[in-house]
Amino acid sequence: MVIIMSPQATEEQIQAVVDKITEHKLEPHRSTGRSRTVIGVIGTEIDVDPRVFEMMAGVAEVIRITEPYKLASRAFRPEPTVVRVGNVAFGSEQVVVMAGPCSVESPEQIESIAAHVAGAGAAVLRGGAFKPRTNPYSFQGLGEEGLRLLRDAADAHGLLIVTEVVEPGQIDLVSEYADILQLGARNMHNFAFLRELGRTRRPVLLKRGFSAKIDEWLQAAEYVLSGGNEQVILCERGIRTFENHTRNTMDISAIPVVHRLSHLPVIADPSHATGRREHVLPMARAAMAAGADGLMIEVHHDPDRSVSDGSQSLGFGQFDVLMGELRRLAPVLGRTL
Ligand code: PEP
Ligand code: MN
Repeated sequence: MVIIMSPQATEEQIQAVVDKITEHKLEPHRSTGRSRTVIGVIGTEIDVDPRVFEMMAGVAEVIRITEPYKLASRAFRPEPTVVRVGNVAFGSEQVVVMAGPCSVESPEQIESIAAHVAGAGAAVLRGGAFKPRTNPYSFQGLGEEGLRLLRDAADAHGLLIVTEVVEPGQIDLVSEYADILQLGARNMHNFAFLRELGRTRRPVLLKRGFSAKIDEWLQAAEYVLSGGNEQVILCERGIRTFENHTRNTMDISAIPVVHRLSHLPVIADPSHATGRREHVLPMARAAMAAGADGLMIEVHHDPDRSVSDGSQSLGFGQFDVLMGELRRLAPVLGRTL
């Protein structure tokens, strides 16, 4: 249930509604928009008659939300959520470009990539220090040393950092270095982990699980939001289908669908979605045209020697072409880069 207060509602009337919700052993989540306050009611509300609230002073409307997520839904917050981190704003007119290697490999590697992507106009440096690898013998990342290298390289070039947290016990450590915590596709269904991320106040980049329906993905976001962390950015990174010409199938339609269902910003990762560098540029363009609020692109100074995901990583020249194309496309779509 969502209670929409009238624009003239007083603070006392809002508080009376909040108290009434608590009285029913439900949890109020208040959101103050440009013109009115909306109060989300979280909990088992099945036995609560909406008329209890409809009759209260200052209440404009009570809506029963049928979706299994509430705080993530458009009904709860009609205006888009803008997640601000440093000088970037996900969910605004800006399309935020995040770029960098799959994994942090060495000081020289991350420094040269950071210098290049910053020069080309990226705002956020990506790079895995802790890697979720399918094979236990594959490179697992440099760990804390990788985080340190990432921070040094980002600071030297005025970039923010997004990096993956692979297990809940790493959240505090990664938060010491990173501006945005990435939850990988393989962990999207890890509900205890999602709850822990709800307790932090760092923005969370929530990747779609490769077999997750959009409703499941939004319920994963709901776990984080219901813990009090409102800074969730969704990331479409391709889903598994029967098609094997690409690593995954990039679900471009998820972008407008999420924008219809939710107020949260959604970005796209055409690198993991396609798995092949020649497909990254056209899918980046397509994602931006479909309304993506940002893009995550794997870039490497020597892609064929990359320790992970080389086949989907762009070289510097290819990244420059991509940025040029996005810059040309932005004004057509009413966006900035
Ligand atoms: C990544 O971005 O490095 C990554 C492992 O992505 P995903 O979780 O989407 O596979
Ligand atoms: Mn990768």
